[in-house]
Amino acid sequence: MANTSKTKNQKSNSNNIIRRFTFIFALILICLAVVALMTPAATMTEVPISDVISRANDENGNIKKITVSGNDLAITLKDKDQPTEKSKKDASGTLYEQGLINHCEKLENADEIKDCQSKYPVIEYTDPINIWGTIGDVALLVLPTLAVIVFFGYMMRQAQSMNKESMGFGKAKAKLYGPDKKKVKFDDVAGNESAKQDLTEIVDFLKNPKRYEKLGAKIPRGVLLAGEPGTGKTLMARAVAGEADVPFFSISGSEFAEMFVGVGASRVRDLFSKAKKNAPSIIFIDEIDAVAHKRDARGGAGREDEQTLNQILVEMDGFDNDSGVIVIAATNRVDMLDKALLRPGRFDRHVNVTLPERKDRLEILKVHFKNKPAEKDIDLENLAKKTAGSSGADLANIANEAAITAAREKHEKITKDDLTEAFERVAIGPKRKSKVMNDHEKKLTAYHEAGHAIVGHVLPDSDPVHKVTIIPRGATGGVTWFLPPEDRSYKNIYELKDVLARAMGGRIAEKLVFGKEAITTGASSDLKNVANLAKEMVVEEGMGTKTRNLVFPGEETGYYTISTGKPYSERTAETIDTEIKALSDEAAVRAEAVLRANTKILDRLAEALLENETLEEADLEPLLKDSILPDSAKLH
Ligand code: ADP
Ligand code: ZN
Repeated sequence: MANTSKTKNQKSNSNNIIRRFTFIFALILICLAVVALMTPAATMTEVPISDVISRANDENGNIKKITVSGNDLAITLKDKDQPTEKSKKDASGTLYEQGLINHCEKLENADEIKDCQSKYPVIEYTDPINIWGTIGDVALLVLPTLAVIVFFGYMMRQAQSMNKESMGFGKAKAKLYGPDKKKVKFDDVAGNESAKQDLTEIVDFLKNPKRYEKLGAKIPRGVLLAGEPGTGKTLMARAVAGEADVPFFSISGSEFAEMFVGVGASRVRDLFSKAKKNAPSIIFIDEIDAVAHKRDARGGAGREDEQTLNQILVEMDGFDNDSGVIVIAATNRVDMLDKALLRPGRFDRHVNVTLPERKDRLEILKVHFKNKPAEKDIDLENLAKKTAGSSGADLANIANEAAITAAREKHEKITKDDLTEAFERVAIGPKRKSKVMNDHEKKLTAYHEAGHAIVGHVLPDSDPVHKVTIIPRGATGGVTWFLPPEDRSYKNIYELKDVLARAMGGRIAEKLVFGKEAITTGASSDLKNVANLAKEMVVEEGMGTKTRNLVFPGEETGYYTISTGKPYSERTAETIDTEIKALSDEAAVRAEAVLRANTKILDRLAEALLENETLEEADLEPLLKDSILPDSAKLH
């Protein structure tokens, strides 16, 4: 089964820094523990206080020194340099009250003192051992070393960015889309009507600033476009510039991350001064979250980022009402942004850019097929239906792949098959023509895919099976597609549990047909999908069995437990693991129940696949018709 949804990899530097610091902190703790264990206190033998007092008052008691700290006594014998015995005094009274006489205390003559001290112990009082003092001492040793390490790490990072940047730093690399560049208009942006409407107002500000000024209206300075990657935020910002016929300056927040100290801020200054000179104009800052993540949440937000962010804020605060520059910033993580950025007078206008719905997907596809010759029978509506969850960029990509495929096949126009190929290629990866499966592998794949298809077909809350194929593609041996009848924003727990079970269906079918020992590596991506989805259900959706309605917030909380490096304890982590396992075990049991109840159909489907390699919805129907749902696979 192929998973067509993308996982976003949100790596973060500051997370690494936190991890590194946790590691160093743990090292320090270990050092402290070792130091504590090596102190004599750990190896000294305990003797009763009465014994100490009687020996201390005896000329031949053999005690050289008694070190008292709080209620603890450390005893050094006459022939030793280090204390070898310890004792505890009664907490309520003084040692004198308990009978210990400091024989040499009152003497003044040096010789007498010396003579006395050779017989009786010297009694020393020290402060009780202060753990913070000890830590302080250790810190005094460790911190400078740490500082050196951090400094070198920093230098390395700078050196790395030096390689990338080499020259011209400090000057804004912002691209200028002047009047000579091909202008983007709102018509080039399909769908997202409400976002366009919001931005129309900005266009009007830029075109007729005087009208607004006369009425004393405050012209907005910053607009924040929020939405997933590829939803057309950049395109939208360029369209604003295009519609208003003003120059467009753009830069990406991630570019700042690799800069020299102070360069980020100077770039910002330079960029803003260029934009002001060319006013009215638009500054577009892509991925602003890269420089403007919450300072508190991520702990060690880099100083460089902070300077860059501050410079952006300073520049925006310095705008006159008639400066004519509007800053548009884009992000897919509004929740991560520093609040300072969202205050009035800064990015106080928010426009949400969403993933396109079915009819918007059709519009986007039309935009991208507008200038491409295609056969009459290509079905964009069907493609729009199949691409739930895709972004505008994904769709643009499919259109481009279709054109490439057609050219490769030497077609005059893009055909239906070119389009299907492009879609599947973008969704899963290219067909692997070169890889020839032997008969056994083919049979195994056929049963594997048939397993997915039957479990998905039989379970009541699964999406219907759309297509099954054993033609290898991308990293998979075969594919079973399930397509939702319509777009949905929410999925319920029954639907998700059916997704888990049908994903398990492949491997279970292999096991049933070829025996336990015959299971292959072909199911690894299924199992990964199961693990990821089950984890998401438990951790993010409160769908665990015993932890129903409980979620386990992740690293974005900025709160860490040192022992686990996670925001929760070892025990909670174990609970999560148990819950995840329970979900995937349940899925395996249900998949097996379904397949055992439908063995004839499993054979029939696998044979049909071996024969035809690909089965479409219409082919599948008669084959799956008589399948049954056993009670043991029911959830409700
Ligand atoms: P973002 O900035 O949100 O990551 P982009 O604006 O860079 O997304 O989009 C990438 C490409 O995807 C665009 O250049 C365009 O070809 C296509 N695209 C995205 N959304 C749309 C849309 N609504 N209409 C037409 N094309 C779109
Ligand atoms: Zn599979």
